[in-house]
Amino acid sequence: MATVIVIGAGLGGMSAAYELKAELGKDHEVILVSNKPDFEFTPSNPWIAVEWRERKETSLPVEPYVSKKGIRFIASALEALNPAEKIITLADGQTLSYDYLVLCTGPDLAFDEIPGAGPEAGGTVSVCTLSHAEHCRDNVKALVAEPGSVIVGAMPGASCFGPAYEYAFILDKHLRDKKVRKNVPMTFVTSEPYIGHLGLDGVGDSKGMLESELRQRDIHWICNAKVVGIANGKMEIDEVNDDGSLKKHHSLPYKHSMMLPAFRGIKPLRGIDGLVNPRGFVIVDAQQRNPKYPNIYAAGVCIAIAPQHPTPVPTGVPKTGYMIESMVRAITANIHAELKGESPTAKATWNAICLADMGDTGAAFVAMPQIPPRNVAWFKKGKWVHLAKIAFEKYFLHKMQVGDTEPAYERAVLKYLGIDKLE
Ligand SMILES: Cc1cc2nc3c(=O)[nH]c(=O)nc-3n(C[C@H](O)[C@H](O)[C@H](O)COP(=O)(O)OP(=O)(O)OC[C@H]3O[C@@H](n4cnc5c(N)ncnc54)[C@H](O)[C@@H]3O)c2cc1C
Repeated sequence: MATVIVIGAGLGGMSAAYELKAELGKDHEVILVSNKPDFEFTPSNPWIAVEWRERKETSLPVEPYVSKKGIRFIASALEALNPAEKIITLADGQTLSYDYLVLCTGPDLAFDEIPGAGPEAGGTVSVCTLSHAEHCRDNVKALVAEPGSVIVGAMPGASCFGPAYEYAFILDKHLRDKKVRKNVPMTFVTSEPYIGHLGLDGVGDSKGMLESELRQRDIHWICNAKVVGIANGKMEIDEVNDDGSLKKHHSLPYKHSMMLPAFRGIKPLRGIDGLVNPRGFVIVDAQQRNPKYPNIYAAGVCIAIAPQHPTPVPTGVPKTGYMIESMVRAITANIHAELKGESPTAKATWNAICLADMGDTGAAFVAMPQIPPRNVAWFKKGKWVHLAKIAFEKYFLHKMQVGDTEPAYERAVLKYLGIDKLE
């Protein structure tokens, strides 16, 4: 009997545990380890921040659901990994041996790279975790009670831009509903070289469409923005030229600011030679395996993906839900193949598909492959995206309860888009 340990019970880890158990059956043990007892559906976090959702609607306890499928769950953080010995140490002191390790540990949020940034330092709020989104909600309530300027966007080195746009549009809608939007000047500040770049060098006409959406909502923007610090209620921003030289320095006062940080790999993995890159992201080959430690697989935000064309202010490539599900599918097939004595050959489709909510409407994009030039570069706006996103949230939470192993993105999104297959 082989032991497969999955670390992280987020979008990738939960899917991986269910799929592995379904594929490997009773002959092998699947253990899921996470630092939190609950699964959190991260894409709903912007809705938490404006009180359109509550914690209990977008999260669920992991143990009761996965145990029904014969998966052992341990709610304790990974503290150390010894890949040569195939041993992990957890925060509760236990050590576990594995035959295969699947890392789905998501991002470590690098707020500390910008002085004053992040909920701890107090300069900006975040929607990256459910607790952050709840803290953000309290900050939004204070903004509604006493309106002032707002800055939304993404820090230098960020790789996840969709939720920044989503949050700006959702907050705009919320402030209009509360009838205080006229007292809230809004600025979108982003490390992207242009609006709609999204870490993907744009998708279809994402530039034109997102600029138009920002203009229609009176949201100003600063691109090529290198936030250098936050202090005394002001954000200090170096706007740079294409060659990286300073174009203009902005010192923007604000009342409320939600900025997505740069990501890096989680601390216990950082510095493990051959396993991770200098930022702590897990190095994987086309089969999602680490080349130095081939019994370690990884999926989701924790993996290293080479950046697209360099940008004046550093940006990274986003890892979105569809890609993550396809990585999990490949890992499951590859571990199963290895256990049968076969070579692992399954590959993930690193295509990007995303639904971005805008409060009452939304925008969807499909980038195949995710880096241009592409076979498909599709970006469309409509109320159907807002509705599809709600349907998708419900479906994904249901999938996490019943252990459905069908890729949710493929089902929920592709049908709407009328695309049969994403190969
Ligand atoms: C605000 C936001 C909105 C997003 N919206 C969308 C969207 O609409 N559509 C889309 O396609 N993508 C979206 N994404 C991108 C991506 O799909 C999500 O970030 C997704 O949650 C990533 O899944 P993951 O499994 O890689 O990481 P996560 O979901 O972050 O899961 C990581 C897991 O690892 C656990 N963990 C961390 N450290 C340890 C440790 N030391 N020991 C044990 N466990 C640990 C965490 O608690 C968590 O359970 C969004 C991202 C953000 C930040």
